Order: sequence, then structure tokens, then C-alpha cells
Amino acid sequence: MDFIDLRSDTVTWPTEDMRSAMANAVVGDDVWGDDPTVIELEKLAARIVGTEAALFVPSGTMGNQLALLTHCKRGGEVVIDDDCHIIQHEAGAGALISGVQMRCVTGIEKDGKTNVLEPSMFEAKIRRSKDIHEPETTLITYENARSCGRVFPLSFMEEMKEISIKHQVPIHLDGARLFNAAATLGVDAKEIVKKVDSVMFCLSKGLCAPIGSILAGKADFIEKAKWNRKILGGAMRQSGVLAAAGILALKEMAPKLKDDHSNAHYIANELAKMEHVVIDPSHVEINMVFFKFKGVNTDSLVDYLGTKGIKVGSPAPDGTMRFVTHHWITLEKAKKVVEEIKNFIS
Ligand SMILES: *Cc1c(COP(=O)(O)O)cnc(C)c1O
Repeated sequence: MDFIDLRSDTVTWPTEDMRSAMANAVVGDDVWGDDPTVIELEKLAARIVGTEAALFVPSGTMGNQLALLTHCKRGGEVVIDDDCHIIQHEAGAGALISGVQMRCVTGIEKDGKTNVLEPSMFEAKIRRSKDIHEPETTLITYENARSCGRVFPLSFMEEMKEISIKHQVPIHLDGARLFNAAATLGVDAKEIVKKVDSVMFCLSKGLCAPIGSILAGKADFIEKAKWNRKILGGAMRQSGVLAAAGILALKEMAPKLKDDHSNAHYIANELAKMEHVVIDPSHVEINMVFFKFKGVNTDSLVDYLGTKGIKVGSPAPDGTMRFVTHHWITLEKAKKVVEEIKNFIS
């Protein structure tokens, strides 16, 4: 597998260590609660993020949807930003499964950055009256790291927590890239998770596990979520085979995410030197590089890179391209990507 895939960090394949841990995993039946490897993963995950309990789920989407189903009641309202995964990439599941209504906040342009969100924007959307005409706000949710590749500072999270306490509305964090956020902020994942009531994070993205995510929170919340996971068909049998890779994801891969970030910075800085590229490298905060070309036919660039074994996603309608670095994009491969872009442009 010597192609270079920058489309996402979801494309990562498991490491050799993971494959052998999976082959040798001790398993039981997790629906009966006796798969030792799943139990080990859930205990480890809870310890690392500092929650009472954790639950292994097949996907990040299921983890988020379980959070909605477990926190909310039907007809309740979820305060959320409209650029996030739950709104954009979960196929309307919140309406279908939990029967919730989404009340969106929209990011603004500020200080040269797009999509800026402030705690007051979320607070303004919380329903405070007990008027029978109005839905009741049942949950606040946001992402960190964000799908747009940026990271909220702890001060933002602290303000959100104060709002949550003031209005007695819990917060669910979509932390698909929680450990990327932790690496950028230079803090333990626990410091981030302290500021929310539940968190979902993916083992299968930059952490390289083939399948699986974790939902973590208080013990009684996870107890209910486990019931709901069964309802959604997400209870699995010998899932220790998957959990074995998840354990290595947490122990061995999470500390390496900073390398992916530095390779993303390398690519961004090199792109910034090219006159055909519009990019502000200071906006790169995790493993994602967003930029635009000017005066370059991006469709033919994408095709050209494909012939060189470099897979990149097609540009968004406004021309924005996204390159995502991960464990299998070494600095050497990042250099090859930059060279091939230069070749194409000249
Ligand atoms: C990938 C992702 C998810 C969902 O994970 P899947 O395992 O693909 O279902 C949720 N939220 C964010 C921000 C993500 O990037």
C-alpha cells in the first residue's frame, strides 16, 4: 500500500502491531458483558479521558446518535453549530432516531477567520421560558477538534460549561478528533473532557484502529447508553477482536498525533510559498490543511496527482481543497506531495 492518501484520516489502515493483537485477542461475548478485551478497552478509555465509564461502539456516528438518544427526549431541542458532523454528515439521524429538533448557530467571520463560534451564540439559542409553545432545550453539542480543522481553546470550553450549568442543559462533545485537540492544546484529554457531560471519540481515524469509537461519561449515562446501543443494533459479540486494536490506538497512536500535525504544517508552509496557492498556514491547527488554488485547473491537478499515486479529495464548490495527514503520511511522503504539485504547476 504505497499510495499516498490525503482524502481523510479515516483511510488509515491498522498497524502491524494492531493486526497481531487482533489475531491473538482473548474474546468473550460482549452482549453478555464478558469479553475481557472489550472490558479492558472501556476501562482504559474511561481512565484516559477521566470519566466514570465508557462504551465501545461500532462508529463515531453511532456514538453521537447514542448521546442524542440518551440525553434527549423526543421533541427536545439540540443547540448545535450547523457546520458540524451531526448536522452535515449523519444523514438526519437525530430526527429519525431520537426525534429531536436541531437549533443551529452559524459561525461568523472575525479577525480574518471564517466560521468563528462564540459561547454567547450558543447561549442565545437556549430556550428559557416554560411556554407550552416552545420546545425544551435538552442538549448542547459541539466539536473539538472541529470539522473545519480548528481547535477551541479551553477558555471557550469553560465558558460553555458555565452556560450549561447556568441553564441546566448538558453538553455532549463530538470529540471524533479529541486527541488531536489535546495535542494542539498541549493538555491531557481529561482537561478537555472535564468541561462536558459526555464525549465521543474515534479510534478509527488518526489513531489507526480499523473500526470503532468510544462514548464516555457518567456511569448511569453509560448504563442507559448501553441499553440504547442494543436498540440500535450496535451490541457486538466477539468484539474483543476490534477492541484489541483500540487499546493500541489509545496507548501507542494517540501520543504520535503531533507528528501528523507537524507534517500538515510542513505542507501548509510549502503551499504558502507557491504563488498559485491561497492559504494562511497559521490557520492549520490539527492534521488538516485547507487552501485554494488560483489560476490552476484543480480537476486536472487531482487527476495528475492520481497518476502519481496521490489520492486527494475533489475541491468543494467554492474551490477549497482539504489535505488530511495521518500516520501513513510520513514527512518523506509529504515532501513528494509538495514536489508533485510544483511539477504540475510548472
Ligand atoms: C468522522 C467523524 C464522526 C463520525 O465517525 P464515523 O466513525 O465515521 O461514523 C463524527 N464526528 C466528526 C467530527 C467526525 O469527523
